[in-house]
Amino acid sequence: MGISNPTDFHNAVHASIGTPTAKYVTSGHQKSRKRRKMPKLHANEWAESRVNLKTKMITVNVYIDYQQNSLSASDYAKLKSLASRGISNYWNRSVSLAGDKFHVTITPNYRRSRSIDVDLHIETDKDYARSHNTGFIDASFIYNKGFFRGMNGMSDRDFMLVSAHEFGHSVLEYFGDTDLSWTHKNTTNKYLQNIKSTTPGYPSTGEIDLMKYYDSNKGKVSAAHLYKKSIADEIDVKRLIWMSNLTFTP
Ligand SMILES: [Zn+2]
Repeated sequence: MGISNPTDFHNAVHASIGTPTAKYVTSGHQKSRKRRKMPKLHANEWAESRVNLKTKMITVNVYIDYQQNSLSASDYAKLKSLASRGISNYWNRSVSLAGDKFHVTITPNYRRSRSIDVDLHIETDKDYARSHNTGFIDASFIYNKGFFRGMNGMSDRDFMLVSAHEFGHSVLEYFGDTDLSWTHKNTTNKYLQNIKSTTPGYPSTGEIDLMKYYDSNKGKVSAAHLYKKSIADEIDVKRLIWMSNLTFTP
C-alpha cells in the first residue's frame, strides 16, 4: 500500500485522471508542414513538477508570459502579482494517489517562451468585461475596475478567481481539448458557453469546482462563499501533474 517509487507514482496518476484526448499540432514551415500526434504525456512545456515521495510534497512551477499592453508599470506589476496569487490560491490543494495524500503547491512564474500567453487588461467601463482563454488566441485576463466602482478589494478578489479559472482552461484544453475546456467540463454548451438544462446549482456545502459553471436559479451562494469554497478539482490538479515535466527528488 502506498507509493514508494516513481513507477507507482506514474501508475497512480495515470489511473486516476481519465482518458486524455489525442491532440494534433501543426509544425514546420509552409512547404513541409506536418501534422502529428503530440506526445502529451509529461511533455507540457509550461509546467514542471517536482515530486518528493518521502515528504509527499509536489511543487509545480507553471510559466506564463504576461503581456503588459497599455498598462503602466505599476498596474502591470499589480495585475501580474494578483493573477499569480489567484492561481496559487485556487490550485494549491492535497490530492490522494493510491491511498497516499500528497500536498501540491503551484507557483506561477513569468517567462517569455515555452509559456502560456496572457494579455492583461484593465476595464474601466461600468459593464463587466469577460476574460477568456480559448487556446486559439492569447488568453485575456481582464481586471474589472469600472464594474466594481472603485471598490478595489472586490476587483482584486474577482480578478484572482477569474485568473485561476482562465489558467485552468489551459489545463483542460491540453488534457481534453476544446470538448472538455469550452464546455466547462460539460456544464456549458460548447460554442455559446451558456449553461445547460442539466447544469446543477451552486453547491451550498463542500467544494465549488473552479472550472465548472453552475445554474444560480437552482442554487445560489454569496460572493464571499464563492471566493472561499471555489477550488480546482482534485482530478484537474492531477491532470496538471500528469501533463507536466516530472522529476523526482530522492
Ligand atoms: Zn471559462
